[in-house]
Amino acid sequence: MTITGFTGAGLDRADHLRLDAERLADMMADQGARLLRLAELDPVLDEEGRLAWEPLGGAGGDYIFLGLDAGAPSFAPLVRMQTLGQRAWSVFRLLSMMSDRDAAIWGAARSVNEWHNRHGFCGICGSATDVFRAGWGRKCPNCGGEHFPRVDPVVIMLAEHDGRVLLGRQPQYPEGRYSALAGFVEPGESIEEAVARELMEEAGIAVRDVRYVASQPWPFPGQLMIACIAGAESDAITLDRNELDDAFWASRDDVRAALAGDPAAPFQAPPPFAIANSLLTRWSAGD
Ligand SMILES: [Zn+2]
Repeated sequence: MTITGFTGAGLDRADHLRLDAERLADMMADQGARLLRLAELDPVLDEEGRLAWEPLGGAGGDYIFLGLDAGAPSFAPLVRMQTLGQRAWSVFRLLSMMSDRDAAIWGAARSVNEWHNRHGFCGICGSATDVFRAGWGRKCPNCGGEHFPRVDPVVIMLAEHDGRVLLGRQPQYPEGRYSALAGFVEPGESIEEAVARELMEEAGIAVRDVRYVASQPWPFPGQLMIACIAGAESDAITLDRNELDDAFWASRDDVRAALAGDPAAPFQAPPPFAIANSLLTRWSAGD
């Protein structure tokens, strides 16, 4: 089985310690406690290309307790962002050099940080909220409302027809890049229904037999990507130009060439840490 990106952190998240003020203070005072280094929200790598950590050193302030790494209490700083909502293509270059495990640890720290920056005020009464649960929530001092980091489910899927799969190109993609179509799951929908709706909306493709393949977190800012494959009724594409610049049916040879980085390939594959890459890898291997 291909490992999917941003998974495999291997930390014990130790949820039972998050509300235990005494144990938390002990962990922060621990000689082995460590703090993840971040540049705004981007990862900082050491000379060996691994995530850089520094001793927490008993410092006060708001931290996100990431969990225990072989017993070592591991924290991320709570970063106050100056600007939000920018998708950092520059970070993709760093990610391509990072181990799966480091990407997973950093991804969680990034997602939770971004959520804090977007949710400083209570959604019920509008008062400023405080950090609680060791960084895994915010609480309103006025109405008592508790708010938790959100995860937004997104379906990402290959429609298959006669040995080929449908790939699309969003306007903001790098030159030549094509990927699986994707969209947010809406309230009142199953995963299967969201897959069918998105393929119909974006490409006019009706599907049957939607099957789940794998999932991964995507920390830009906090999606859960749910990868599926579905059988298309026909290969006639009706493109929604608001969503996609282009779409085409790729053969197994096309996909294998793109994944291998062949310059003659008809498209450029999504990066290895994107689940679309895992999905295409599995499909091209006949899975
Ligand atoms: Zn409130």
